[in-house]
Amino acid sequence: MTQQELQARYGAVMMNAFGAPKRVFERGEGVHLWDADGKQYLDLLSGLAVNALGHAHPGVTEAITAQLGRLGHVSNFFASEPQVRLAERLAALVGDPAAKVFFTNSGTEANEAAFKLTRLTGRTRIVAMEGAFHGRTMGALAITANAKYREPFAPLPGEVTFVPYGDVDALRSAVDDTVAAVVVEAVQGENGVVPAPEGYLAEVREVTRAHGALMWVDEVQTGLGRCGEYLAHLTESQVADLITFAKGLGNGFPIGACVATGAAADLLHPGQHGTTFGGNPVAAAAGNAVLDALEGGVLDDARRTGAWLADAVRALDHPVVSEVRGRGMLLGVVLTHDAAAGIADAALESGFVINAPRPNVLRLAPPLIATPADLQPFLDAFPSLVEAAETSSRA
Ligand SMILES: *Cc1c(COP(=O)(O)O)cnc(C)c1O
Repeated sequence: MTQQELQARYGAVMMNAFGAPKRVFERGEGVHLWDADGKQYLDLLSGLAVNALGHAHPGVTEAITAQLGRLGHVSNFFASEPQVRLAERLAALVGDPAAKVFFTNSGTEANEAAFKLTRLTGRTRIVAMEGAFHGRTMGALAITANAKYREPFAPLPGEVTFVPYGDVDALRSAVDDTVAAVVVEAVQGENGVVPAPEGYLAEVREVTRAHGALMWVDEVQTGLGRCGEYLAHLTESQVADLITFAKGLGNGFPIGACVATGAAADLLHPGQHGTTFGGNPVAAAAGNAVLDALEGGVLDDARRTGAWLADAVRALDHPVVSEVRGRGMLLGVVLTHDAAAGIADAALESGFVINAPRPNVLRLAPPLIATPADLQPFLDAFPSLVEAAETSSRA
């Protein structure tokens, strides 16, 4: 079956939620993908910051396969060892040994769980950030800033106040004793990889603590090594009350988690929330296999290679690049004008998968295991990609 045939079948049967797919992929291994016509690509997107260990990672494949052969699913009426072990490991990462975990199947559901926890404080107001992205379910959408995503679905859960991301004065004036939580990303990935200004997360911690509000950090994209640390927000030593994970946790197997610390860990009681699949033994086995692999020095490599990649893009000294921002293996290449979509298309034509979260920003989020040698071909090709994009936009 050729790509063209599969694309036609896709168009006939799939709801048009994502536009026409640009490629149909058939196989992946490490940092590479192959499309249905057999063409090879270097993956610098990792399925949206998901495939931290690359494609078809043997440890994850082995763990999932073995677990599915032993016990695949039992519902949350019952427990399984892989689930308990993964919860213990996530709880150990967040800075409070008494932290507790609720498992989900996605990032938006992890945020949905956190949102419901905030309601159990007895307060209902939420302060969220301009530029934020937290997912597509109605609750997560209510704290997501993008008007295009929100407006068709109004009314959304209310009492959400948006403040400019990184603006300390605006934060201070928005938070009082009626606020249940402040929700924030350490780096706004979907907004074009915008890191919080230095000291801002410490300020969020201080302001929320002063008013008895929860600090809720969405680490769905940034967490578990993507930014070079297990938690991007812990670089400022702030223990948050609610932390949500998903993308990197299962290396492609769908799993998310909402982790709560301190008093927030005991907010939820039987009957108040639930999930059929969340934290099932196979998903938990995937999560454990990812954490096993990350322990082997992957984070150090991601930090080092990410810094190398950012410097290497800067060193191209290309006139279309105005700035490279982000941390670890989550980088935004900021352009002088809105050329990102055209460059991403040209990259795909040349065998590189990247994306354009903003009209003037390219996102680079390679697998954490990518080496400088893996990534060098993209740097070598970059000037020709820009040229190809310019030529086709003139055509
Ligand atoms: C991707 C993302 C989500 C949503 O995750 P899904 O698995 O797509 O529901 C939430 N928050 C952030 C910061 C994200 O990047």
